Amino acid sequence: MTDQLIIFDTTLRDGEQSPGASMTRDEKLRIARQLERLKVDVIEAGFAASSQGDFEAVQAIARTIKDSTICSLARANDRDIARSAEALQDAQRGRIHTFIATSALHMEKKLRMTPEQVLEQARQSVRFARNLVGDIEFSPEDGYRSDPDFLCRVIEAVIAEGATTINVPDTVGYAIPELYGEFIRSLRERVPNSDQAIWSVHCHNDLGMAVANSLAGVKIGGARQVECTINGLGERAGNCSLEEVVMAVKTRRDYFGLDVNIATEHILAASRMVSQTTGFVVQPNKAVVGANAFAHASGIHQDGVLKARDTYEIMRAEDVGWSANKIVLGKLSGRNAFRQRLQDLGVDLDSEAAVNEAFSRFKELADRKSEIFDEDILALVSEQGALGHHDPFVFVSLAQHSETGERPHARVVFSRDGVEIKAESDGNGPVDASFKAIESQVQSGADMVLYSVNAISDSTESQGEVTVRLQRSGRVVNGVGADPDIVVASAKAYLSALNKLHSSSEMVVAQG
Ligand SMILES: [Zn+2]
Repeated sequence: MTDQLIIFDTTLRDGEQSPGASMTRDEKLRIARQLERLKVDVIEAGFAASSQGDFEAVQAIARTIKDSTICSLARANDRDIARSAEALQDAQRGRIHTFIATSALHMEKKLRMTPEQVLEQARQSVRFARNLVGDIEFSPEDGYRSDPDFLCRVIEAVIAEGATTINVPDTVGYAIPELYGEFIRSLRERVPNSDQAIWSVHCHNDLGMAVANSLAGVKIGGARQVECTINGLGERAGNCSLEEVVMAVKTRRDYFGLDVNIATEHILAASRMVSQTTGFVVQPNKAVVGANAFAHASGIHQDGVLKARDTYEIMRAEDVGWSANKIVLGKLSGRNAFRQRLQDLGVDLDSEAAVNEAFSRFKELADRKSEIFDEDILALVSEQGALGHHDPFVFVSLAQHSETGERPHARVVFSRDGVEIKAESDGNGPVDASFKAIESQVQSGADMVLYSVNAISDSTESQGEVTVRLQRSGRVVNGVGADPDIVVASAKAYLSALNKLHSSSEMVVAQG
């Protein structure tokens, strides 16, 4: 048995399936680049057959990413599998991940198929996929709640057909660590050809045990692949969190005895990118990536940490990308210092023009804010990344008046396809007035389903980062904006969401 643990990230597939977390093709590509920098072994880039948008995203990622295996999900049918293979055609290393439900409940109620039909379909699908790519992963959906005897027959059959990874999902988050670990172990013992595949775990967090279950699947069950997402993003309570599972295995190498490839110093940047893109904010007390994860507030702890770090610290903050919130740049910093800082943060902009644009935005910000932190730079870059070059709506300026006892009023200037538009309105607050002003001219007909403001760094001098989530005819988009003035940040976020509603190539949303 190998002592390498394969990290399979499904932020872009399972993570994106959580309501409201939908991402555009460009956003997915940007996150995929960050996952590659993290040295994730396998990136599940999407579900190619589910929509044209998903197909294009998988294809773009397969064409761009060289160091990670790129995977597409496919139901166990020829059409889905062929579509995945097509999207993966240009990948350096491609994998098809096919699945079919095997629990009595799912087979009867969802698939309306007999166990024998399911077994036959699983077998045929893997055989079909095997002729298209060499790397095949098979998942019996709702595997943990499936009859073990039947599951053993299905797994043996698909391995015989050429499946190289067997993933046993706890689809509904029902497992308990010891029981799940034993379940995987007994399957591996009972399936005669089990040693011809790598075993994988995929756990959901409905009872808060996704990471614990995954680790038990590894330690007790002998699994050598963990499926996870950045920040634990995913449907309902989410998936196993990448940063937690990776840091557990690294920090307790004495116990697990396993190696992982992950370049952990890029974890924080990945976490921020995913939360900014989706608007799913990371809670302050979240392990590893929460704002308080390395903050020692109590006097006793602070004293201990100052005397010797390991009195209270089991991991080094720097090892996961925290840079202690130090002032990194200011008004006088030059282009080279800025470029160097981008490099240190693991940000690589795709062109010289993009670096120049980011630098001029940085200068603008430095004029208004004396201390620029890493967080500000990351926000600036991700705001820029969210701006397409042909976006119809561009923010120009904003003025607003609010005073106790009076109804707030806002005037917003923005351009639409290069034509300047002046809009004004009053509202319940200055943010509401700004949104109403924009809507008075745009009439998008969209509903706002989320509005959130976050301070990028600690103080009131920090920039506000705003996420606006809009919904129109079943389609959900997230817009982000950052600015020291939160009303301006809000207007930028609103326009960014409108730009995404506008991009027609992303119109189809269908999840299987
Ligand atoms: Zn899942």
